[in-house]
Amino acid sequence: MKPKYCDLLPIPDILSAKSFLCIQPHPDDMEIGAGATLARLSKAGANIIYLTITDGSVGTYDPNIETENLVKTRRGETEKSGSLVGVKDFLWLDYPDGGTLPLEEVRSDITHIIRKYRPEAVMVCDPWLPYEAHSDHTKTGLAAAEACLLSGMPNFCPADLQEGLKPYSPDMVAFYYTAYPNTFIDVSQSWDIKLEAIDCHKSQFSGVKADKLKSLLTARAESWSDDQDTLYVEALKVLSIEHLHIIEDTWHC
Ligand SMILES: [Zn+2]
Repeated sequence: MKPKYCDLLPIPDILSAKSFLCIQPHPDDMEIGAGATLARLSKAGANIIYLTITDGSVGTYDPNIETENLVKTRRGETEKSGSLVGVKDFLWLDYPDGGTLPLEEVRSDITHIIRKYRPEAVMVCDPWLPYEAHSDHTKTGLAAAEACLLSGMPNFCPADLQEGLKPYSPDMVAFYYTAYPNTFIDVSQSWDIKLEAIDCHKSQFSGVKADKLKSLLTARAESWSDDQDTLYVEALKVLSIEHLHIIEDTWHC
């Protein structure tokens, strides 16, 4: 049950934000996690930037594929799928895929990008997803959450200020792939776009595998709907930046 003092820290309204920095560990995560929400937001006029942390070079079971070709293919798939959901700019950090991310470096990179682009909202995978075994996901989520917490402080990553950037805090962070959702977005009008965007990632999902993923996501989106007129829902954990430090009950909020 939500403690009463949570009312002092209201959950921000993600649909009111007009600019988003959307951070994904790998080239296909944003559309799987929140593609229909992004399509809805962009249609309503929001500016959406993608930041992909790794090069996606581990994403294959084919021992004969050239790594360079895989990376290039996945980049092309991301540009195509992102364009479908309305992404305007694509940023790439190109760290090697596969769990070796240097957390502090990634945090500094994300801080720099937050200060440069000054998004109202940051979207990233939830690093506190139970049983998440891929540390690219947990590290990306943690690095982004900490960057959101500290990017407004001038003594954090001060080299950015010497380059002329100013401290800046986003208003909110929205976690996708979350086990503790508090915000349920009606995406009935944009569900088809999400599925089409997922189909762009042919190097990752095709045939039976693609059908299975889309069926799973669709069943989950239907299960979150509690209203006859809403067919599909995407669920997010949306928090203010204040929720990200020393608030014991954030997971209830
Ligand atoms: Zn991933």
